[in-house]
Formats: sequence, C-alpha cells, structure tokens
Amino acid sequence: MHSKSLYQEVILDHNRKPRNYGTLEHSTHHAVGHNPLCGDRLVIALNLDGQNIEGIAFHGESCAICKASASMMTSVVKGKTRSDAEILIQEFRDMALGKLDPSDENHLGRLTVFAGVRNLPTRVKCAILPWHTLHAALNSINSTSTEAADDPMHAPVDRAS
Ligand code: ZN
Repeated sequence: MHSKSLYQEVILDHNRKPRNYGTLEHSTHHAVGHNPLCGDRLVIALNLDGQNIEGIAFHGESCAICKASASMMTSVVKGKTRSDAEILIQEFRDMALGKLDPSDENHLGRLTVFAGVRNLPTRVKCAILPWHTLHAALNSINSTSTEAADDPMHAPVDRAS
C-alpha cells in the first residue's frame, strides 16, 4: 500500500517539474484528449521509430492529478515499444477503475502510486486521460474524449509482442 503522503508528494513533484512537458520538433503521431468533467485538455505528441517510442511530449491545461499522470506516463513509456506501452495503458486503466489490484502481478512499477484514485470517482478520468490520449495517438486517432461514444479505451488491446 502506498501512503497518501507519497501520492501527494508525487503529484506535487510532477507539477513543479513536469517531465517531457512541451512540444516535439519532429512528431509522427499526436492526439488531443479532453475530459469535460474536469476541463482537462492535453496534447500528446510522439515520435515513433518503427515500433519504438523514441520521443514523447505533452502539453495542455489540466488539473494536478492529470498533469502528474501525464508527466509520469511520458517518462515511463519513453524508449518502450508500442506493445509495451499498450500493456501499461490497459493496466493503468484497470488499476484506476479498481479492476486491477496493484499488489497483483503487473508492469506498472511506481505508477501504482495512482492506485488511490479508485476511491476518488471524480478524479479517475483525470488520471486516465493521458493514457487514453496516448492510446489514441498510437492508433492515429487524433482527438479523443473520456466521454466519447467511440471511447478508444474500449478497443481491444493487442498484447502480442
Ligand atoms: Zn482533472
């Protein structure tokens, strides 16, 4: 179990010094994500070299939870393959929705600090939005919303590697 103070510390740290914040000079994929419930709006840009995420950056207007989640996500998926990123997207989403217990086997590592959002229903979508937007960018869906009917997060994830 992670303490509430660790969670707060991570959120504060990533808001003070967001990782990979800004734009990419050469991006191959991008998507805009919107969470109308909170007003979060994020742009995620990627530079994919074959199956590898060579570069990733984000910017936008968002609350602290969303920004911390985006900052941590970009540092974790940078250098990973597309299929590794898709596994993390699925696991993060399941954890935030309470479908994955962070003590069960998973690949989330320090991202499990966000497990507590399952108890904060209004913040779940704030934490998920960056992941949702990354999924859209990887699949060349240029705009997404947590409230969209064609929610890309419901699309099956290719776990083959
Ligand atoms: Zn938010």
